[in-house]
Amino acid sequence: MTNPSLLILAGDGIGPEVMTEVRKVIAWLGDKRDLTFDVTEDLVGGAAYDVHGTPLADETLEKAQAADAVLLGAVGGPKYDTLDFSVKPERGLLKLRKEMDLFANLRPAQCFDALADFSSLKRDVVAGLDVMIVRELTSGIYFGEPRGITTEGNERVGINTQRYTESEIDRVARSAFELARRRDNKVCSMEKANVMESGILWREVVQEVHDKDYPDVELSHMYADAGAMQLVRAPKQFDVIVTDNLFGDLLSDAAAMLTGSLGMLPSASLGAPMENGRPKALYEPVHGSAPDIAGEGKANPCACILSLAMALRYSFDEGDEATRIETAVEKVLADGVRTADLMQSGDGTPATTSEMGDAVIAALEASL
Ligand code: NAD
Repeated sequence: MTNPSLLILAGDGIGPEVMTEVRKVIAWLGDKRDLTFDVTEDLVGGAAYDVHGTPLADETLEKAQAADAVLLGAVGGPKYDTLDFSVKPERGLLKLRKEMDLFANLRPAQCFDALADFSSLKRDVVAGLDVMIVRELTSGIYFGEPRGITTEGNERVGINTQRYTESEIDRVARSAFELARRRDNKVCSMEKANVMESGILWREVVQEVHDKDYPDVELSHMYADAGAMQLVRAPKQFDVIVTDNLFGDLLSDAAAMLTGSLGMLPSASLGAPMENGRPKALYEPVHGSAPDIAGEGKANPCACILSLAMALRYSFDEGDEATRIETAVEKVLADGVRTADLMQSGDGTPATTSEMGDAVIAALEASL
């Protein structure tokens, strides 16, 4: 049996710093859990531009297509702000998502009890929150044609088109139902079927997929605006939310903030299954390259460590080890070990990126 393969693209800014801590966890899994990955490393974003003149070299894309999973740090930084749009660091990430056809973006909004006071909502509304937002990522209004700015009479008109095919809705709905089966078995689908034809089709197809193949999963439908209200009123009512690209963009950011800190939020982008049955997959923290703190040892590595946990669960069927990592992070926080982003003024001395990683390893050790 060959080891599963993992391509690490640390990227720019704090990307390489948080990835150093993830490597500690990968090494620990190999040493202590007999779970060894064939790890390859490569460049993406500004780091790739500096060497190759492009934010994603063709060879890197090939490696990503062949890997069982890709783990990415972050891309971007002020040094690259004046570059042409086509070679900006962020284009590397977008190209990766597009070429790998990663159509389902999974954004968990999980509120660790120890961090409930960091939310802008009341503790009892968010403590213990665990919602998964599944956003369609490769179609909808961000890609639909016609688009552009034209002129009608004597004024300009901006045009974008919301367009979904049945198969695009079908496959993302399946991702959501499969996920729900591993969680609390509930899916809420959100669209605007009251005012948009694409929303009517979305609702119909999600319901058909459910009735045909997932009747055991509890399905509800909600208009996306009502969903946004419910998400801040009583977020714990949701388990899995599935929605389109535009609504998902907004709802997942709103849900993320329920949990307090960017430094804690992982994500996964999944595509169609490969020959070995694993989905094409890219795992990355939600945060960016944080140039304001890069190189200072202040970055919180938890989002990236939790992204590895998602990879274990969704690419490698190692749900128990994923839970072990999540529980270790939770324990570290409960013990009061915090990077600066998780502290309020007067809270004492923050842990460095490396100390936070070491504390997670210590908690993993203690879990054996
Ligand atoms: P950002 O997420 O990098 O930072 C926003 C704020 O959150 C900053 O104050 C930062 O210090 C803080 N922060 C973020 N992650 C943190 C962590 N792990 N620990 C502690 N604090 C953390 O967003 P931004 O400042 O808008 O963007 C900076 C650069 O990152 C830009 O070039 C942007 O294009 C890029 N970006 C990349 C991605 C990505 O790679 N997926 C996502 C968003 C932004």
